[in-house]
Amino acid sequence: MGKGHFGLIGLGVMGENLVLNAERNGFSSVVYNRTAQKTDDFLAGLGAGKQISAAYSLQEFVDKLEKPRRILMMIKAGQPIDDTIASIAPYLEEGDLLIDGGNSLFKDTERRVAELESMSFGYIGMGVSGGAKGALEGPSMMPGGTRQAYDAIESLVSKMAAQVEDGPCVTYIGPGGSGHFVKTVHNGIEYGVEQILAEAYDLMKRGAGLNGSQMADVLGQWNSTEELSSYLVEITEVCLRTKDPEDGGDLVEKIVDVAGQKGTGLWTVISALELGVAVPTIYESVNARVLSSLHGERQKAETVLHGPGATALELGSPIDGMAPLQDACVLSCIASYAQGIALIEEASRVYNYELNIAAIAQIWKGGCIIRARLLKRIQEAYNNNSELANLMLDPWFAEQIQRRLPGLRQTVIEATRAGIPVPCFAASLSYIDSYRTARLPQNLVQAMRDCFGSHTYKRLDKGGDFHTEWLP
Ligand code: NAP
Repeated sequence: MGKGHFGLIGLGVMGENLVLNAERNGFSSVVYNRTAQKTDDFLAGLGAGKQISAAYSLQEFVDKLEKPRRILMMIKAGQPIDDTIASIAPYLEEGDLLIDGGNSLFKDTERRVAELESMSFGYIGMGVSGGAKGALEGPSMMPGGTRQAYDAIESLVSKMAAQVEDGPCVTYIGPGGSGHFVKTVHNGIEYGVEQILAEAYDLMKRGAGLNGSQMADVLGQWNSTEELSSYLVEITEVCLRTKDPEDGGDLVEKIVDVAGQKGTGLWTVISALELGVAVPTIYESVNARVLSSLHGERQKAETVLHGPGATALELGSPIDGMAPLQDACVLSCIASYAQGIALIEEASRVYNYELNIAAIAQIWKGGCIIRARLLKRIQEAYNNNSELANLMLDPWFAEQIQRRLPGLRQTVIEATRAGIPVPCFAASLSYIDSYRTARLPQNLVQAMRDCFGSHTYKRLDKGGDFHTEWLP
């Protein structure tokens, strides 16, 4: 094998599948991993007999690559990325290009793009979504950095990405850390949808008494609709249908109810708070994971704090797909997407990213974890009106909200009646209700702020700032 077209650092589950993907698409590759044993295992296993060679030092790795070099780092985010950049930089030459395909914090990427570009190297911060299978068969990729750096990898990533009817699921996102920012928000939306489906499961189980197979049948119905057809609904059906080989019971019932998180949901919420964008559905999905982690406390609290207990809830019948619950899922998913998009738009404005929402929806249609038929509608909404203030104002989405709001409301009422927590359904309902209310009660908040802190207020009937001596 001559010089490799493509270099990969990091043979974790994502890295090894991405390099197999690149090789399958005609890019001979060189791999390096901090722990040499993993490199040997890969070359003896999945990488055997392919146009993939190994390197055991970064100098050897760089020497084995054709120039300008295209190197993908697929390693743990954070300090390992800075350390790897520092270790490899002495061997790089002008025009070489480093790509960070991990889940890095976009502000770190912002800094690294500036540092590396000042050393005449290209640097791309690229969000990659799709898990192991997506990485192998075609992920969705969100690359950010300079346009010139993207042009140098376009042929590579266009072939590696998932393909949908209108092209590959990759596009130039924008400058600096914008690729990682968009990937972070993608994950925030993903957190929201996962929690929405978990709440639906809880209501079907505790509120309607369905077993795993019955719930899976409902999910199967939902997955055949335009509004809910998606990868996450599809895998939820599979999870609910899977039996424990040991006793034939529903496997999900054997799993500890504590959800892990690696930070992207949290970063979405932090960015939203910093930028002043309301993301209550996404925020509640993060809170739900945090509360789930109080496992021991919850065991104790259940014996002390008593609720009404679940009674037969009016959530429709499984035959008709639990219609109100389906409405709740559709609208809460729309709310999650609407909030994520609002956040991306504000970041684009504040950081001058010039992000294109229709193009982002296009590359989320395949390969990634939040891929869903709904994304075609989102793409159309922003193609029709790139200035759309909120996804919910697009005529197709507005009609969905109009039609399904009673179902979402009924679901939240029924859950509340039974004492079953539905943080994302309730947050989505409040988000929609707040957004569609012309006069909110924040006039009273302004009065209080002026009363205790002389913060002044504005009046509906005349211009200017006003202050009142409220207290005698
Ligand atoms: P991972 O478990 O996050 O990372 C494993 C890789 O990182 C190994 O190659 C490991 O090398 C290397 N590494 C760890 N610490 C290092 C250090 N200090 N210096 C150099 N290398 C170091 O693997 P992954 O799941 O494949 O994920 C890779 C990146 O993609 C992460 O940022 C992850 O968040 C992101 N991501 C993951 C998924 C997913 O579904 N797993 C999806 C999208 C994005 P050793 O073998 O020597 O330990």
